[in-house]
Amino acid sequence: MKTVYFFGDGKADGSASDKNILGGKGANLAEMTILGIPVPPGFTISTDVCTYFMQKGEYPADLTNEVENNLHQIESIMGHTFGDSNNPLLVSVRSGARQSMPGMMETVLNIGLTSQTIPGLIQKSGDERFAYDAYRRLITMYADVVMEKAADIGPGEGEGIREKLEALLENLKLKKKVKNDADLDAEDLKCLCEKFKETIKIHLGQEFPDDPHTQLWGSVTAVFKSWNGKRAAHYRNIENIPSEWGTAVNIQAMVFGNMGEDCATGVAFTRNPATGENKFYGEWLQNAQGEDVVAGLRTPNPLNESSRIGGDEGLPTLENNMPTIYAELAAIQQRLEIHYHDMQDIEFTIQNGRLWMLQTRTGKRNGAAAIRMAIEMLESGMIEEKTAIMRVNTGQLDEIMHPTLDTDIEKDFSIMATGLPAGPGGASGQIVFTADDAENWHNDGKKVILVRKETSPEDIHGMYASQAVLTARGGMTSHAALVARGWGKCCVVGCSEIQISAIEKTLSSNGTLLKEGDWITLNGSTGNIYAGEIPLKAADLQSNIFFKKLMELVDKHRAMGVRTNADSPIEAKQALEFGAQGIGLCRTEHMFFNPERIMSIREMIIAENDEDRRKAIMKLLSHQKSDFYEILKTMAPYPVTIRLLDPPLHEFLPQENSQIQELAQALKMSRNKLDARIEHLHELNPMLGHRGCRLGISYPEITEMQARAIFEASAELIMEGTTPYPEVMVPLVGSVSEFIHQRKIIDAMANQVQEKNKVKIDYLVGTMIELPRACATADEIAKEAEFFSFGTNDLTQTTFGFSRDDIGSFLPEYLEQNILAGDPFQSIDKEGVGSLVTMGVEKGRSVNASLKIGICGEHGGDPQSIHFFQRSGLDYVSCSPFRVPIARLAAAQAEAG
Ligand code: PEP
Ligand code: MG
Repeated sequence: MKTVYFFGDGKADGSASDKNILGGKGANLAEMTILGIPVPPGFTISTDVCTYFMQKGEYPADLTNEVENNLHQIESIMGHTFGDSNNPLLVSVRSGARQSMPGMMETVLNIGLTSQTIPGLIQKSGDERFAYDAYRRLITMYADVVMEKAADIGPGEGEGIREKLEALLENLKLKKKVKNDADLDAEDLKCLCEKFKETIKIHLGQEFPDDPHTQLWGSVTAVFKSWNGKRAAHYRNIENIPSEWGTAVNIQAMVFGNMGEDCATGVAFTRNPATGENKFYGEWLQNAQGEDVVAGLRTPNPLNESSRIGGDEGLPTLENNMPTIYAELAAIQQRLEIHYHDMQDIEFTIQNGRLWMLQTRTGKRNGAAAIRMAIEMLESGMIEEKTAIMRVNTGQLDEIMHPTLDTDIEKDFSIMATGLPAGPGGASGQIVFTADDAENWHNDGKKVILVRKETSPEDIHGMYASQAVLTARGGMTSHAALVARGWGKCCVVGCSEIQISAIEKTLSSNGTLLKEGDWITLNGSTGNIYAGEIPLKAADLQSNIFFKKLMELVDKHRAMGVRTNADSPIEAKQALEFGAQGIGLCRTEHMFFNPERIMSIREMIIAENDEDRRKAIMKLLSHQKSDFYEILKTMAPYPVTIRLLDPPLHEFLPQENSQIQELAQALKMSRNKLDARIEHLHELNPMLGHRGCRLGISYPEITEMQARAIFEASAELIMEGTTPYPEVMVPLVGSVSEFIHQRKIIDAMANQVQEKNKVKIDYLVGTMIELPRACATADEIAKEAEFFSFGTNDLTQTTFGFSRDDIGSFLPEYLEQNILAGDPFQSIDKEGVGSLVTMGVEKGRSVNASLKIGICGEHGGDPQSIHFFQRSGLDYVSCSPFRVPIARLAAAQAEAG
């Protein structure tokens, strides 16, 4: 097993293709080195070592030697020696997993500073203040990461060693009456370092190590251990990253952005990650170390003119301050983007007028930006069509369909404060000040906004549970901003106008005071925040040309059709705008969910004899006919699959006393009689009871009425010159004889209406496949049916034997104990329910090659399930209107991937 991979001086043991062993950071450092881009030399300890260490609790035998040898190589390139008292080499130790996990694991900088080497650094840099500043940073990071976190010491919130040391720094500034760290002199910092070490001894019971190798190995082990830290594990769960991957560790020569005015550090994106605009975008700080930008300790300056966001006109840009270096950086970023064919997120440091690249990786972006970049990179010839399709994930598409603040109402609110617009859209919620509160309140069904002084990766679970995140400090590239943007979550950072008291749980700004639980609204696109709640408005996709182009592209590449589940003309219209190619499921019982109509359906259900039933049914007929007319007209010439009535009786019978009373009055029936009738109709398992085609078999007049309404509406439309295309669907068929029974009634009615009106109606008759028996006998059914539509909701219910309505009572334990990987009602269970789908398709097509097959259960809008349906050979998926664009993209990705 090769454990260590070197990079430096134009040569590297690995390359960008070695992400699995070197992690993303290590692989890209190697690649940049090979490209001749200035990267401080270093080496990567492989992810295999992490896995080995996790399993055995020790390192491979040759690791110490390998690390020593590679350290010597750095020394010979840099001309410094690790631990040398005259000319000390300092190194950084950073994590780097296969997939980027921003801020979730640990970093230790300035390793190698000891009482022996400090004088050497002072002499070499000629700057005593700088040396002690580097030392106090090392002590803070080491104490926090190695001595506390890696040792599993779990202090309470605000009780950690880092907070204690930072409090000492703040006290010193207060005492010296200075505002910035930079105003402390060498002597101040030297004393502070001594205080730090005493505090560590008191609180952690150990000395801060004064040996460079102890520091190095302590840091390496701490980084490996941080892979299993709470926040990394939490992030992995959310992002579905396997815990077996492990992290690599990168050890690299330190370069300093804080050695004077000709030094700087920054983070940049090759294109704007919030809008997708093709402009170099970034932030920088003069005379600062990288962590100052990333951790949001100081709010950074715009890198160039195109990075300005308004209100920051006075701030200096790197473009103006260091034009030559800026030009070098601009050329490198362009080269990296062309090399990787994707937007890059880069980190750089300038030491004494010399530029060093510390990282490049694929940049996280929000939904709108992802779509714009994919289209513009395609149009410029940088990527191909299939790549462009794969560049936008379905979650990002979902995100741009997310609501924004209603601007008409927003303009009447006064702006409480303004921060940086780090995450898209708008959000309102109740204020909470800790991540734990965010999670708890969210679990109680509340909408919360997490408000923090600064963005800390420790808040990850609370951020996830919140509608949005607001911070007082930090930049657009701070960890939490990156994480929020990756999730498409509304986020405002660096809002320096607000004061937060974590103890009193208050937030104040410009004279407004808000307490925990008060409502606040954020506009993640402008950075404005408001006291109170502002209603949200649906996203405007119509004016987004990149969205339109992407949708045209996905339609060109997908084979599967996308229809919608819609029960009203309004939904049908909305779905058409989103690109639906027909209705895959119109649930006719849903057409009766309004108070006026529900009476008629109840009347029908309650009816004791044919005559009463017919009377009630005739009332339904007129409603149905006009509904079908509108829907068929809206969708014409696309097909509309109308499903015959399928009401599980318990959903339609009155439950409450007042409803029963009302029904009794409407039906002119005595209360006793009605109660007795309801009692009679009561079912123990309504989901398996008198529903679906069973209803139409017991009461053929229902099927007759619905078929009449469908065909009469169609005939009317044809006579008006429209081409309706109804597909009549029989629900809950388990055996072919049920289908034949219903089909006879439907065909007879079609003939009757066609003859009477002298028109020819193009229609199909098919069935839902939603019972295991229907799958097993699909070859029988397909001889009689023209189409199948998989009802995977009922098919999941009947395959697992899990009640659709009651799974919530045991699913959490199933997920927790890994008995199920996910909710099978959300994403299709490929092995079980999926194999029944495959069986149904194979059997059906074996006797009827032209059988049209779709799916209309909730899985029709789930990307993972859509990939499965594509492989199963389905003709189309059908989903709710707002999922239609997502299904179109997923169908194209299933084809392209
Ligand atoms: C299904 O069972 O998957 C289906 C679409 O029908 P419903 O949800 O109406 O039972
Ligand atoms: Mg069903």
